[in-house]
Amino acid sequence: MTKKFYITTPIYYLNAAAHIGHAYTTIATDIMARYKKARGQEVYFLTGTDEHGANIEKAANTAGVTPQKWTDDIAAQFKALWKDLDIQNDDFIRTTEPRHERVVQEIFEILLKKGDIYKGKYGGNYCLSCEAYIDESELLDGKCCPVHKKQTQYVEEETYFFRLSAYQQKLADFYKEHPAFLSPKFRGVEISKFVDGGLKDLSVTRTKVKWGIPTLSDPKHTIYVWFDALINYISAAGYGKKLGLKEYENYPLNFDDLWPADVHFIGKEIYRFHAVIWPAVLMALGVALPKKVFAHGWWTVEGEKMSKSVGNIINPRDITAKYGVDAFRYFLFREVPFGGDGDFSINSFKRRFNADLANDLGNLLSRTLNMAAKNVGEIPAEYNGEANLLKAARRAEEAYNEHMEELAFDKALDCAWTLIGDMNKYIDETKPWTLAKTDPARTKQILLELIFTLKRVNVFIAPFMPATALEMQRRLKAGAIEKYAPLFPRIEG
Ligand SMILES: [Zn+2]
Repeated sequence: MTKKFYITTPIYYLNAAAHIGHAYTTIATDIMARYKKARGQEVYFLTGTDEHGANIEKAANTAGVTPQKWTDDIAAQFKALWKDLDIQNDDFIRTTEPRHERVVQEIFEILLKKGDIYKGKYGGNYCLSCEAYIDESELLDGKCCPVHKKQTQYVEEETYFFRLSAYQQKLADFYKEHPAFLSPKFRGVEISKFVDGGLKDLSVTRTKVKWGIPTLSDPKHTIYVWFDALINYISAAGYGKKLGLKEYENYPLNFDDLWPADVHFIGKEIYRFHAVIWPAVLMALGVALPKKVFAHGWWTVEGEKMSKSVGNIINPRDITAKYGVDAFRYFLFREVPFGGDGDFSINSFKRRFNADLANDLGNLLSRTLNMAAKNVGEIPAEYNGEANLLKAARRAEEAYNEHMEELAFDKALDCAWTLIGDMNKYIDETKPWTLAKTDPARTKQILLELIFTLKRVNVFIAPFMPATALEMQRRLKAGAIEKYAPLFPRIEG
């Protein structure tokens, strides 16, 4: 069996409900998975939820339920949202599942035996929200977490350490030898600098946190939630079976069919975990490293950072219920280059909806099909005219594929909309509705060019707007034999 294209989202931490940030990463992963499938590759798309740690315990306590009940409920909400957003993931892993926990425990023991994990004592400034110690040099005003701007607490405990310091040079060498690993490039620079600045060993167990995976050899220690979480990428892929653990005899996946992952999509706030700790753990295990870790930016809303206290957190359903799933998926990846930071504003959403979707694409399709109904008759299965439009479409296809491979989703969409613009211009110039009176043969040719170029465009937009693409495909095949509703009815007001 050939190796599948293995693509992942981060597993989302269940201390709060899903918002636009989660949706963004998951839709990006879905776009890439659909694109690869359309190109004939076998794909495995993993997402899931990160369910251990003090913050989950706290959230559950506040809600008056057990952590298990809490995570069951929120994990179910995430699953339902992915279904609503037309996400075609192949697997959904929860870190409270036995298939994951067992592998985490085993890996801990393997690294303990190898000496990559050792017992010690740790004291430091701990941020409860990060569930991490914050390095002295990173504290704001000498006491606050730089991410949460909240006061850290000095904490001392017996703990097991992962020997991260031993991997500093190996990581630096790896980044140099694999320039595509840290993506996008401008974010990779920070990581290289961070590693070159020196790595400290990482505390990977807690005695204070009950809601975690206990270690097998010293069960009063539970495994640090980040160490636990990162392992999902291999536990889901069948690493337990690869290790020969008897619980995995009948596991449906073979590790070597999936690993190494082709790309981990993540948000920039968790880049270090994925680009420093995760590869070091894999090196310690002697497992190959993923080919790419890609960190995208953050969304602000109407120019402001999203936060509970401001009350501006965007629930994707508020948008999709009103304007449709595909318009939402389109906007997120057309508006902002993938990798950069973006701003979600309802006015720019409406502007793009009306201009790009209702006018440029929607009107083009209905104009073309209406004229074809009068002048073409049955639409043939193939058309091989050497028209300029079709030549442009073939050139666009090359550029489109390059952009998709580079994860430049906005540029890929630009290719589609440049073609759409060309087609609208072509209609305005050739005026098929007038030409039909004097030259029906040429009119038919023009309309067929348009229809077959639209079919190309349809392939371009399909990973981004799957339901729209299916509907377009249906109409383009059938011609205007019925009265169609507009693909994207204009938003008024
Ligand atoms: Zn923090």
